[in-house]
Amino acid sequence: MDLKSKLRRVPEFKGVVFWDITPLLKDRVAFKDCVKKLADHFRKMDIDVVVSIEARGFIVGAPVAHELGVGFVPIRKKGKLPPRVASLDYRKEYEADTIEIREDAIEHGDRILLIDDLLATGGTAKANAHLVERLGGKVIAMGFLVELGYLHGREYLDGKYDIYSLINCKSTESHDMMDGTCSGPGISCMKASQKGRG
Ligand code: AMP
Repeated sequence: MDLKSKLRRVPEFKGVVFWDITPLLKDRVAFKDCVKKLADHFRKMDIDVVVSIEARGFIVGAPVAHELGVGFVPIRKKGKLPPRVASLDYRKEYEADTIEIREDAIEHGDRILLIDDLLATGGTAKANAHLVERLGGKVIAMGFLVELGYLHGREYLDGKYDIYSLINCKSTESHDMMDGTCSGPGISCMKASQKGRG
């Protein structure tokens, strides 16, 4: 399945080159394939809970949790969850925000899988991880449909987490995408054309 052909490149939205996942979500085969691939990658990691941030994170994270047979915990924008909540200010590629999680949502020592639609600068992923860790959860891994390699989110996450993404954009150009099994803490991905060469 050519997942990258289902991603729509919007040259300018919110001041950045924006990668629209809605065509991928609409394609029942592509969407199912993505959820299955993400779940399969993390299946043996003994995950207790999937955590995702609204709104696009929910679309991917909830079915992955379902596929893994584990619970799902939402991280929401400020003011959406009833008290008591833990909150954190953070910055992402094109804006700043405050996020919140229910204080009792994570048990001490819970093994957490963070799922989001897209890894850009890594600001969101780092904020999500800090929030979960503050409550005593252990972030085992992170999974994304799309990774914008040119923004070096992996490096920003300090190589601390096991990161797996399905589509990798090496630059802001559409021809520089690869369907990828881009995995591991802070490694850079090979281009498809380099795969298998000595
Ligand atoms: P960041 O914190 O910079 O890694 O941004 C990741 C979050 O912002 C994800 O939840 C994405 O939904 C969204 N995002 C950031 N940059 C883009 C982009 N260029 N195209 C689409 N979504 C983006």
